[in-house]
Amino acid sequence: NRRWVLASRPHGAPVADNFRLEEDQVPAPGEGQVLLRTLWLSLDPYMRGRMSDQPSYAPPVDIGAVMVGATVSVVEQSSHPDFSPGDRVLGYSGWQKYEISDGKGLVKLDDSVPHLSWALGVLGMPGFTAYMGLLDIGRPKEGETLVVAAATGPVGATVGQIGKIKGCRVVGVAGGAEKCRHAVDVLGFDACIDHRAEDFADQLAAACPDGVDIYYENVGGKVFDAVLPLFNTSARVPVCGLVSGYNATDLPEGPDRLSLLMGTILKKRMRVQGFIIAQDYGHRIDEFQQQMGEWVKAEKIRYREEVTEGLENAPQTFIGMLEGKNFGKVVIRVSAE
Ligand code: NDP
Repeated sequence: NRRWVLASRPHGAPVADNFRLEEDQVPAPGEGQVLLRTLWLSLDPYMRGRMSDQPSYAPPVDIGAVMVGATVSVVEQSSHPDFSPGDRVLGYSGWQKYEISDGKGLVKLDDSVPHLSWALGVLGMPGFTAYMGLLDIGRPKEGETLVVAAATGPVGATVGQIGKIKGCRVVGVAGGAEKCRHAVDVLGFDACIDHRAEDFADQLAAACPDGVDIYYENVGGKVFDAVLPLFNTSARVPVCGLVSGYNATDLPEGPDRLSLLMGTILKKRMRVQGFIIAQDYGHRIDEFQQQMGEWVKAEKIRYREEVTEGLENAPQTFIGMLEGKNFGKVVIRVSAE
């Protein structure tokens, strides 16, 4: 077996030394257990939080423990009545090639999934996050303006495309011209602004001539600063993630803008609501799967993956994702289907 364990906790951006590759024998399943071989490993921004022992909504990964992560696996051997060799399952094996499981939490994947790895993206947790955050908290109405950053990632791309289905003007924010072109030409956004541009805030304001009704918050930082003056009365802000700050070691330098923020929320009578997908919406997964399955099949929602070959490349790929080096949903092909 091969696995990446957490060797040390990062201070600031994670580095290669925070991870350690371990190898040993492939384990054998006992009674009531299955041996899983990982096909696909999902890398997601929340894993940065699990590397830290700061208080959060989920416990940290212990030092020396396998890095957590959602996986699509094949059952190699089974002594469990509900699973047979060859079954494909969605699970949580983490950053390793083999895992022994007692079957709890495993979800069998049938042939309705067009690509197995999509169960980790648009048809899985990130797609579900986009769907619930936008529809339940953002409540989009026809003709409204929706802004979303990390616009070509699995959450942002899905948010923007659902926004188009609901009749919104959708303005994306992404890192670089190529990602912005993709958001407009392939995903169908009305505009997409490069957050690295010097006049980013001016460009964003120009792309939102009627103000902003929904800001789906994925990144925080200077993107939020640029959106803040544009909010309309009754604007909604689903607070999904703040990836621009995940590697921060301190609060940003002043001036203190808390009173500006709270004053805007008050005067514009805004709704700002955080959510954690599994905790808040786990009970609505069936509705999501049904609707998203239809949209994906009808190509109303398009999906882009960035595949990295080989478990050995997981740490570098993860570190790069936090800097925006990925272009689409990050998955690692751990072994052949
Ligand atoms: P992505 O694949 O979109 O990866 C993160 C992206 O964030 C990068 O590609 C980069 O895109 C962008 N980014 C990084 N740093 C900055 C920065 N300083 N300024 C602006 N953009 C930056 O990730 P996901 O789609 O998986 O996740 C998107 C967000 O949703 C994250 O914040 C994540 O934590 C959150 N999330 C929350 C969940 C919940 O339950 N609340 C569940 C799942 C995800 P670019 O190059 O375009 O800037």
